[in-house]
Amino acid sequence: MTSSTSRRRLAGKCYCGAVQYDVADEFVYALNCHCSDCRRTTGSAFKPFAGIERHKFCVVAGEDARLIYGDEMTHDAHCARCGSLLYSVVREGHWVHVTMGTLLDDPSIRPTAHMFVGSKAPWYEITDNLPQHRGHVGAG
Ligand SMILES: [Zn+2]
Ligand SMILES: [Zn+2]
Repeated sequence: MTSSTSRRRLAGKCYCGAVQYDVADEFVYALNCHCSDCRRTTGSAFKPFAGIERHKFCVVAGEDARLIYGDEMTHDAHCARCGSLLYSVVREGHWVHVTMGTLLDDPSIRPTAHMFVGSKAPWYEITDNLPQHRGHVGAG
């Protein structure tokens, strides 16, 4: 195995198109996060995101057009022009959480659970049958 050319790649971009990324269709997990940070950064009831090792993700356009909120190891990356939250760098810089709403292509993975349901918006009712975790997945 010398390259990833045979593997499926997914494209994604912000609202205005200034920032574009490319990611392998090899997400390890996908979740809907209802924590107040995710609600605020997306302006939505919750944030569907998919996690992948950082080296399988790359910004292909608009690297300079990003607004990085946080530090080198842990941050949210927005488009500085339109504000879209594209991804977060997490877990000591080794993983990327891609906001699934910014994907252009359909990933193989689907969100498998709701997390931080303990702090979800009171005006939003979860109507699917996915497992609900009060905090982090695995923490009950
Ligand atoms: Zn933009
Ligand atoms: Zn969250």
